[in-house]
Amino acid sequence: SNYEIHCEGCGVPIQTEEKGSLGYAPPSALEREQVICQRCFRLKHYNEVQDVSLTDDDYRKILSGIGSQDALIVKIVDIFDFSGSWLPGIHRFVGKNPILLVGNKLDLLPKSVKPNKIKHWMKYEASQQGVKPIDVELMSAEKRSNITEVAEAIEKYRGNRDVYIVGATNVGKSTFINQLIKEFGGETASLITTSHYPGTTLDLIEIPLDEQQSLFDTPGIINHHQLAHYINKKDLKKVTPKKEVKPKVYQLNEGQTLFFGGLARFDFVHGDRQSFTCYLSNELPIHRTKLEKASDLYENQKGELLSPPDRNDIEQLPPLVKHEFSIKEDKTDIVYSGLGWVTVAEAGTNVSAYAPKGVGVYIRNGLI
Ligand code: GDP
Repeated sequence: SNYEIHCEGCGVPIQTEEKGSLGYAPPSALEREQVICQRCFRLKHYNEVQDVSLTDDDYRKILSGIGSQDALIVKIVDIFDFSGSWLPGIHRFVGKNPILLVGNKLDLLPKSVKPNKIKHWMKYEASQQGVKPIDVELMSAEKRSNITEVAEAIEKYRGNRDVYIVGATNVGKSTFINQLIKEFGGETASLITTSHYPGTTLDLIEIPLDEQQSLFDTPGIINHHQLAHYINKKDLKKVTPKKEVKPKVYQLNEGQTLFFGGLARFDFVHGDRQSFTCYLSNELPIHRTKLEKASDLYENQKGELLSPPDRNDIEQLPPLVKHEFSIKEDKTDIVYSGLGWVTVAEAGTNVSAYAPKGVGVYIRNGLI
């Protein structure tokens, strides 16, 4: 029978099948005397952190482990996908530890959005989830903007505590940690290690902050509401914004529908003629049609005229589910988690939003 090989660096069982997952090493690595997983390999040779994802069970174990320590929790969310990148239940796990909430990917939002408004909205959303952050920061890890401010906030709030960085997969946690290492690593870079988290299949990356305290990067946590789990990598690239989104304005009469590729749909059910502003990836095609024809059109044209996903991938997409909203205030956003949002101009309007089953759709006061 097979005996398990463990990583010399972090102790996790080695596997050669799944690249993005914990313990992956290329088959050629098995020929070496001392096998290390790709994550430790990259860390050791390039000082680069690679994200791996986590099962729900390990997620609970690690979070409850953090709750029993005295630590600052830095929770990173994707501003463009707040609900999809939230970690449900985190308020129960962190115990009395303070949470510094960091919104990443600021560069995707139109420049006209005021940072304070975003922070205010993040605080409100967090409170709805039962979390009262000690502070809120914004950054763009990829563009290296505000990294220093976030690092300073961590320094300020941690006191003499350890720091745990948590976040759902794809929020940019690895990008952020790698920027931190670049910017502040200096001599400490050589001291970065991985350590195995007891009772789980997890390893944590440990960056020393001073003689006693460390910053721990926890593995990214899969939130099943993320759009990313329902479409393939190629389509995900197309539909998640890569740069500042350019708003597209549609003047619609009631009884008109917009399709966002084959992924989502927006019906203007009732109200005065008005403008609807779409904040979506610049590469996601928008198709306008009549509401009465929309369902037939979708059945006949999904994966064709209405794509992405294209005809080869459309069958994998869960069916679209309808969410109905009656708009009570001027300038209200209907948000499709991970895709973007539509701003409805006027109160007294009824709309329906369709997204693949499992993908969150929600309503908020207009951000812009
Ligand atoms: P992790 O799974 O949380 O570790 O996320 P990664 O660091 O691997 O980043 C996930 C994706 O988001 C990658 O495609 C990154 O290029 C992208 N990304 C990370 N930070 C930013 C950012 O500040 N702005 C934008 N636009 N994209 C980012």
